[in-house]
Amino acid sequence: MPGLYFHIPFCRRRCHYCDFYFTTNASLIGRFLVGLEAEIFHKATLFENETIETIYFGGGTPSLLSLAQIERVLALCFAHFRIAPAPEITLEANPEDLNEEKLQALASSPVNRLSLGIQSFDAGKLKRLSRGHSAQESFEIASLARTFFRNINIDLMFGTPDESLNDWQRELETALQFQPEHLSTYSLTVEPKTLLAHDIGLGKIPAPNESLQVEMFLSVMRRLREAGYRHYEVSNFAKPAALSAHNFDAWQRKPYLGFGPAAHSFVRQGRTERRFANVRNLKTYLENPANALLFEETLTEKDILNEEIFLALRQDTGLGMDVLEKRRKFTRSNLLEKEIEAFCLQGLLRRDSGRLRLTDKGFTLADSIAETFMVE
Ligand code: SF4
Repeated sequence: MPGLYFHIPFCRRRCHYCDFYFTTNASLIGRFLVGLEAEIFHKATLFENETIETIYFGGGTPSLLSLAQIERVLALCFAHFRIAPAPEITLEANPEDLNEEKLQALASSPVNRLSLGIQSFDAGKLKRLSRGHSAQESFEIASLARTFFRNINIDLMFGTPDESLNDWQRELETALQFQPEHLSTYSLTVEPKTLLAHDIGLGKIPAPNESLQVEMFLSVMRRLREAGYRHYEVSNFAKPAALSAHNFDAWQRKPYLGFGPAAHSFVRQGRTERRFANVRNLKTYLENPANALLFEETLTEKDILNEEIFLALRQDTGLGMDVLEKRRKFTRSNLLEKEIEAFCLQGLLRRDSGRLRLTDKGFTLADSIAETFMVE
């Protein structure tokens, strides 16, 4: 079912590995909220026949907004869209923005899913990641969030310089003590033009050890499966019935509207599918928030097929052979069977009731395997 996504483009500081769009100029929050109102008003017609099942505040740092500001955005959603009776409403939050009072207030608001940007419970690792919170805050906020929310996600990062496999396994056990309904785990990746890339380039910091990151990823898959989590997408693990409905729907290619700078949208009108995205600059966005498009594209049949392949392989439900069959329309290559066989022999893919699913080892190479099957 369709969803709404709000990109809240403010952060207290820049984490050195991050390449998301944000600004540290919090004095623009008021103008940004006025801009959002104009954008919501303008885009609501695109979903006039849809019922919204999920609302997601991502960023940036949505927890920099006050409760009154979050409720104002939600009130606009309820005023301009038809919202399902029990929508999933997720707020991404950083520990340094939360305390008992704010968590209690958030829990009594329509927000019913809290996604915590904990990243680590280790003081040295948080410092190396240049995060804005302490290890003590990670513990306190995870514990308080557990008290007030019935549905929490914990984000964890692995594979930072100097981190051993044992360190990571200890970290994971700590997170499990809070019994989160959902865990998202990411390896530290070096994105171009980040401070991290710059420092690695200068030799100030060692580059992440990729083979150790693979071991860490394999260990998290094993441990979380054993702890009763479903590994439903490359980086995402959930207790039964606690999948992130918003993200799951996006991976199923359900429509969504994104608001705010850098936000992406996907809409379907009849047989036409369009993706579009806003500019990655708050000031430019504010000049005309109702129409701040950076690009818009109508998907071709080939684009749609490539998305279906790429997104399906990243999920535990895998890729149907019927979808792969559609490739024949675009390519004469008959290498497909050989490629599949080779991946199966290498223990990266397995066949299962007419579907291809990644093995644990396959998940560590999900993108490159998916790319092999996409059509040029
Ligand atoms: S808080 Fe999140 S969005 Fe902001 S700089 Fe850090 S990682 Fe990036």
